[in-house]
Amino acid sequence: MHTKTAAVFTQNNKRYDVEKIRNDFPILKTTVHGKPLVYLDNAATTQKPQYVIDKENNYYKKYNANIHRGVHALSQEATEAFEESRIIVKKFINALGKNEIIFTRGTTESVNLVASTYGRENINEGDEIIISHMEHHSNIVPWQMLCQEKNSKLRVIPINDDGELIFEEFEKMINKRTKFISVVHASNSLGTVNPVKKIIDLAHSHNIPVMLDAAQAVNHLPIDVQELDCDFLAFSGHKLYGPTGIGILYGKVNHLDAMPPYMGGGDMISKVTFEETTYNELPHKFEAGTPHISGAIGLGAAIEYIEKIGLENIARYENELLIYATEAVSDLTGLRIIGTAKEKISVLSFHFENVHPHDVGTFLDFEGVAIRTGHHCTQPLMKRFNIPATSRASFGMYNTKEEVDLLVAGLKKILEVFG
Ligand code: PLP
Repeated sequence: MHTKTAAVFTQNNKRYDVEKIRNDFPILKTTVHGKPLVYLDNAATTQKPQYVIDKENNYYKKYNANIHRGVHALSQEATEAFEESRIIVKKFINALGKNEIIFTRGTTESVNLVASTYGRENINEGDEIIISHMEHHSNIVPWQMLCQEKNSKLRVIPINDDGELIFEEFEKMINKRTKFISVVHASNSLGTVNPVKKIIDLAHSHNIPVMLDAAQAVNHLPIDVQELDCDFLAFSGHKLYGPTGIGILYGKVNHLDAMPPYMGGGDMISKVTFEETTYNELPHKFEAGTPHISGAIGLGAAIEYIEKIGLENIARYENELLIYATEAVSDLTGLRIIGTAKEKISVLSFHFENVHPHDVGTFLDFEGVAIRTGHHCTQPLMKRFNIPATSRASFGMYNTKEEVDLLVAGLKKILEVFG
């Protein structure tokens, strides 16, 4: 049994009630190999509270229908719930209008959408696109594909040994050929939080648009797209305690208006003849076909759930866990933390001198502790640190210091066995 977690206080001085939160997540009562589940793989995907599960279920049980096209009651109810979620997302990231919120399958699709539409229209031979050395493959490959097609150049902001962007190098990289910048807000492998406002301000002073991959930021850091002034922002529902297969592309309305559609099909059209098609208004122009209706409803519910607790309260609590875990592992023989930036989300990546990450992950699994091992879809980053993979524990709103203790106890056993 867990011992009591020391209290962390919320903004309005209430105790952060982690046990109450844990009770909202049915899966946390699961056992794995006969041990209580300790789920520390939140950067890969987060667990879902009953509130989200119920909202998705209710759609299928009570008002399942296709949206936008039906005059019957169920279709209208489904359309209302779907569009209500768009408004919830709009408010959550403080977009100017709901027409700036495009439902996609996730971060990956959102980046591909921008590369294939904005990119194809605006990037030409000899132009340069800047990304960083800590990007997830989904914010590398779409730009690489575009560069190959257009004969343009992908440039990479280097990072230091702590896993922080070297800003002076970024400044030097900007020139008149730079036409687009796409960077990760918070790194899934290192935890680093990038100085995105500074990046955007500098880019805008040269009239260069900036896209943010907020897949890992959105559930840890409050995001205000108007304050950030980013041109595009992408995130996934499943990292935000919501469903898989649903995500968001935010884009400034002037960009979205000027961009050609991504996919053709139903819903994205205004009028179709065999000779010509005119396109629907935003956001529908980018939402061809039947969308993931229950997913969108579930994403809205996830945001409602998070907002009840308060993202800032969650962030403060997770930061406590990160500090606690970082201290607890720092004495372990041969363990090197990968990602020691000053500003981090609650991701703890590490590498043992003499134990392969795969063995670490497998051993911990038998202790009931779920972490992720591998390259985390950041192969160039692994190369930068000269390692094939890391072991990564990533903490969510429901984790506890006692769970960190179980992780550390597992790591100590590993050292005894493999050490
Ligand atoms: N970007 C970052 C930083 C991520 O961590 C991930 C997923 O791990 C992605 C992009 C891709 O997200 P998805 O697979 O949900 O499209």
